[in-house]
Amino acid sequence: MQLQVSEFHQFEAGGNPFLYLVPSGGIFAVDELSRKALAIAKENPREAKELLDALVATGATVEDARDCIEELVGARALGPEGGWKEPIDEAPAKFPLQTLVINLTNQCNLSCQYCYEFGEDKVATPEGKAKFMELETAQQSVDFLFKESAGRNSVHITFFGGETLMNFPLLKQIVDYSQAEAKAKGVTIDYSLTTNATLLRPDIIEYLSANAIGVTVSMDGPKEMNDQLRVFANGKGSYDIIVPKVKELLKQHTTRPIAARVTLTNGVRDVAKIFQHLRYEIGFHEVGFAPVTTSPTRLYAIDEKGLDDVLGQFEKLAYEYLEFALRGEHHGFSNVSDTLSELHQGISKSHPCGAGLGLLGVGPSGDISPCHRFVDSDEHKLGHVSEGMDSDKQQDFLKRGHVNAKYDCESCWARPVCAGGCYHEAFVRYGDTGHANLHYCDWIRGWTDLCLKIYGEIATHNPSFLNHFDQRKAS
Ligand code: SF4
Ligand code: SF4
Repeated sequence: MQLQVSEFHQFEAGGNPFLYLVPSGGIFAVDELSRKALAIAKENPREAKELLDALVATGATVEDARDCIEELVGARALGPEGGWKEPIDEAPAKFPLQTLVINLTNQCNLSCQYCYEFGEDKVATPEGKAKFMELETAQQSVDFLFKESAGRNSVHITFFGGETLMNFPLLKQIVDYSQAEAKAKGVTIDYSLTTNATLLRPDIIEYLSANAIGVTVSMDGPKEMNDQLRVFANGKGSYDIIVPKVKELLKQHTTRPIAARVTLTNGVRDVAKIFQHLRYEIGFHEVGFAPVTTSPTRLYAIDEKGLDDVLGQFEKLAYEYLEFALRGEHHGFSNVSDTLSELHQGISKSHPCGAGLGLLGVGPSGDISPCHRFVDSDEHKLGHVSEGMDSDKQQDFLKRGHVNAKYDCESCWARPVCAGGCYHEAFVRYGDTGHANLHYCDWIRGWTDLCLKIYGEIATHNPSFLNHFDQRKAS
């Protein structure tokens, strides 16, 4: 068999060369002999025997050269001419649901100007639909989750809005109902919610803690940053209202780590300052950042130069994360943890995320959507919880979103982790959920390369820290 170098991305970490193998998503530390073997095979494809002779000619023993070639073939860094034929699976016709995002209401007491649900780029068409979910629809949603997740022994509900806590009584009813159903079926269930924190009260916090409901607070940093866009309808900033409530939440909710989620915009992108404030001055366990999803013409959109700047700031914070990791300490920059977790699991995605597959959204009306960001959108409706899924629509969504359907991604080394990026962002930018998010390829490749280096450094100097990502997977 003629052997040739397969598709990979090479990087250095901890003074050692590594390969990130595409499409398998494996990470492979390269020793001196392997480096030589790859360099020789790169000149032109050759028979295994020829390659072995060439390695022996450089001073390697026959045994070492043979082991080295076998290892490189086993890791798929070397492959047959024409590459390994391993097409990524098509979307399975039936895939058990794991997470249902239930939008308890589409109403919100804030008017954040960048909100994808209410802002200028909204895809929702909520006219004539329920504003608050009814108990019957909620129970049908839970029944739908258990029916569609058959075969799984654990499921998850995420509560979402609008502002989730505007319908807190229903949240409690859903927890009661779903816990009873889960018990009857012998399935584990857990919960999380996202909130703007304006409506938190001591009794709500106590309930969330008692039921181990994970909480993510949407908040954009210190007052002068948070209040630029996270405002009430009268234009008043939300910071002063939420900070005492968030501090109480962090003090009293002791059963799950509490996270902050920051939306970066043109005027709010001092990553270091925001992280410092939310992690250390407020006390969140984890802080995650996402650049705003919007068309590039909006005033608050981050332009290309701004995105480069954000990536530079992410890099600084990621190296701070590394220092903590090398000491075996928790840092809290969740963007790094999330990517390291994916790299550690060696994932190679057929689809960018679980939307429409293991994850679905359901709106207050009971309409099913690929995820929470498409809730209430007629164009993206995949069925109704009382009737079930429209599998033709689901298959069409998944077929268009498959990485193999994205021509530009075909030769990209970052596709195992990216697979074309968020469907919602693609729809806002290109009017097609199946379009690759080409406006951020440089960003995603830069970020993936950075996280690979961080991963390699940790693997070299404190490998036991990576066990943490086994646990993340398990959870
Ligand atoms: S969207 Fe860009 S970065 Fe992502 S896989 Fe496709 S080509 Fe690569
Ligand atoms: S489509 Fe986008 S917003 Fe929805 S789950 Fe996927 S990544 Fe998240």
